[in-house]
Amino acid sequence: MSLDAVADRTHGYTGADLTAVLVDAATRAAGSAAGPPVIRQRDLEAALDAVGPSTLRDASVQTPTTTYQDIGGLDRAKREVVRTVEWPQRYPALFERLDAAAPTGVLLHGPPGTGKTMLAKAVAASTDANFLSVDGPELMNRYVGESERGVRDLFERARRLAPAVVFLDEVDSLAPARHDTDTGASERVVSQLLTELDGLSPRGSVAVLAATNRRESVDPALLRPGRIETQVAVPIPDQDARAAIFEVQLDGVATGRIDTTALAAATTGYTGSDIAGVVREGALLAMEDHLRETEFDATDASGLVVTQRHLRRAIETTAPSVDGAG
Ligand code: ADP
Repeated sequence: MSLDAVADRTHGYTGADLTAVLVDAATRAAGSAAGPPVIRQRDLEAALDAVGPSTLRDASVQTPTTTYQDIGGLDRAKREVVRTVEWPQRYPALFERLDAAAPTGVLLHGPPGTGKTMLAKAVAASTDANFLSVDGPELMNRYVGESERGVRDLFERARRLAPAVVFLDEVDSLAPARHDTDTGASERVVSQLLTELDGLSPRGSVAVLAATNRRESVDPALLRPGRIETQVAVPIPDQDARAAIFEVQLDGVATGRIDTTALAAATTGYTGSDIAGVVREGALLAMEDHLRETEFDATDASGLVVTQRHLRRAIETTAPSVDGAG
């Protein structure tokens, strides 16, 4: 095996990962050698199969603490996710008794910053499941040319870490409706994804949630029954939802009297993420005022509160991130 070929196969490997590959290969060589051990091509290949890049390994497992209460609005989406993902994990006997099918996977679709990731994390937290998250474009880049292996590794780890929630963010880039026929790369990724989904046991301990803000760009094969069959809309928040999001985002923040209804009325088209931005900016404006009032002697923070006026000013300096919606 040429070193160039090894280099080609080790996108995303750190120096420590490469050392681990060599140690693994050497162990294999020693185990199979009659005479003095020599690392052969097949030892290296087996080692590369066994040792993945730690970047993906480490970055993606979490035990989230997000609760449904942290998510403002989205009542329908929450209810749908609870029934289709949480119940099968929590009450398998009920599904068995009624011979009810649980979806293998659920697609959360809606504009960026509306709470799709939060929802997936809340499901994992409420079922005490490990949360394995992969970002479509990131996985495609990290494993250039062999992203199907990233998919396989991901599900292998999910089964090992079960109960687990697998979150496929920006799934449209993993499984695009129009395949890149030049390399066949995405075709291999899709077929690996389908293999993994088809292999999951119904009402099993690995739940799959995928997210996209371009539903029409997802390969329809992925959305067939038995696969990621349930679709849940995660829309831009309406007036009531925006007020609820202000409530949760301001929870734990020292404030004066806040009228969230008025704030909601002034933020048509804002996503949850935009509202989080307004609250962050409002806090900075409050600090600015506080520093000025105390002549930059901030030893006593007790007078520092975010007021309605700070939040109004923050709204004036921001705009909704998603245009044409709301
Ligand atoms: P998405 O996955 O849809 O792009 P996220 O779930 O990552 O969006 O949301 C990004 C951030 O925006 C969250 O960490 C949170 O601070 C805020 N946010 C988004 N939606 C909501 C919501 N419905 N309620 C409260 N906060 C929200």
